[in-house]
Amino acid sequence: MLHGQNLIGGQWRNSATVAQTFNPSNISEVVGEYAQASVADAEEAVACARKAQPAWARQNIQIRSDILHKAADLLFARATALATLLAREEGKTLKEAVGEVVRAAHCFQFYAAEALRHPGQWHNSLREGHNVIVSHEPVGVVTAITPWNFPIAIAAWKAAAALAYGNTVVLKPSEFAPGCAIRLGEILMGAGLSPGCFNIVMGNGALLGPTLIHGADALSFTGSTPTGRALLKIAAESMTKTQLELGGKNPFIVLDDADIDVAVAAAAQGTWGQTGQRCTGSERIIVTRGIHDAFVEKLVKAVASFTPGPALDPATVIGPVATRPQFEKNLAAIAAARAEGAELAHGGTPAEGHNEGLFLTPALFLNTTNDMQLNRHETFGPIGAVIKVADLDEAIAVANDCELALSSGIATTSLRSAERYRRESKAGMVMVNTPTAGLEYHVPFGGRPPSGVGGRETGSAAADFFTESKTSYINHGVI
Ligand code: NDP
Repeated sequence: MLHGQNLIGGQWRNSATVAQTFNPSNISEVVGEYAQASVADAEEAVACARKAQPAWARQNIQIRSDILHKAADLLFARATALATLLAREEGKTLKEAVGEVVRAAHCFQFYAAEALRHPGQWHNSLREGHNVIVSHEPVGVVTAITPWNFPIAIAAWKAAAALAYGNTVVLKPSEFAPGCAIRLGEILMGAGLSPGCFNIVMGNGALLGPTLIHGADALSFTGSTPTGRALLKIAAESMTKTQLELGGKNPFIVLDDADIDVAVAAAAQGTWGQTGQRCTGSERIIVTRGIHDAFVEKLVKAVASFTPGPALDPATVIGPVATRPQFEKNLAAIAAARAEGAELAHGGTPAEGHNEGLFLTPALFLNTTNDMQLNRHETFGPIGAVIKVADLDEAIAVANDCELALSSGIATTSLRSAERYRRESKAGMVMVNTPTAGLEYHVPFGGRPPSGVGGRETGSAAADFFTESKTSYINHGVI
């Protein structure tokens, strides 16, 4: 069992209270016991980050880059151990977990190089003998609040980017999966990061949130849309710069001219991969009339192959649902969908023979309409719904008829249709003939409001959020 302490000013600290996490593949197994930070601990973590920030901002960029590189190396070296912890605590399969740890390492590698490529511009001036320099400075102290579904990758891409641009960080991981954050803290300390540059406080978000947000210069949050809304209000009180990456209800369109096997593979992976617990998952599959029946026949076969099982079993295709509350929410969403007339073609029940874990068979609903509650709210589980439409016009209208706007996709062999959808989709990301889920670390990631607010994460675009620009007019006197 992992005994996790808070990391405050370079010291690992116990607290008066602890909270346990459980293995969703076997809920009788305790994975970790974690110190729960008090408000005073949160205040101290922010103060330590503030004290450490000026020196880190002045740090030689080669040294800054080397530390981030070393963190990447350590993540690669410890990938199997970290992935095993991740699979035990969050429930994704070992293969998925290794992929996530490697992604975290790649983020550190990328931002190690970004630290050297710090953005800036030089302009000619409108005035003789002057020029203009636009430089970028660290925001200061960044609070990062992260969800349970990618507990190391999201923490890594926020922390690596914030540190690369000279900020210091206080991380508040999800209470359901804080283990990887502890390991990330150990890795950053081991890579030579000075005390106070990276701090971790664990515990109840609602309790610690206001202190962590009001004390910081910036908040980078990933989580649900309702929580994001609440945090935006808190941040408004102190005018803390805020970046929110929130929920999705992502559409995947299948047109009559699609390559049917490509379409089925992309829809199935996007919907049920990683137990459907991805903000970019395809929860609405919008299919035009001409291909509908043939597509559905193949999709019903595909869904059956996403067998749930223990996360560490190499034969498992999808792991359990990550938490008990999420499991209950998924079952309630399935019951409500049936009650409103959606036709359950597969799954949607606790998996037989797996009483020890939170295993749910992947659910596929047919003959649904976009106005059903099933298609209005994020379920964040292994639940997909097919909506039949007449043509591309209706498909685009249905895809965009949704409050959330994170990711979206289309399967078609027509360049014209793909390009039209790319332009008309209101989502922040568009995927053509590939699943709505799956992102690359070197390009911007994120949704449009209310799925994403305050600037993109990942890639060089992260500099927009993690730095403040300064425009300097220089009279150098040379004509
Ligand atoms: P939550 O919003 O419940 O929690 C996310 C984090 O916020 C946790 O650390 C949580 O802490 C904290 N938190 C909760 N309430 C408050 C509060 N009042 N003040 C401060 N912090 C708070 O999301 P989940 O962890 O359940 O994650 C799933 C959600 O995340 C889905 O909606 C999914 O779409 C979204 N997501 C979005 C992504 C994106 O990039 N757009 C990527 C991944 C997930 P605590 O531990 O106390 O609950």
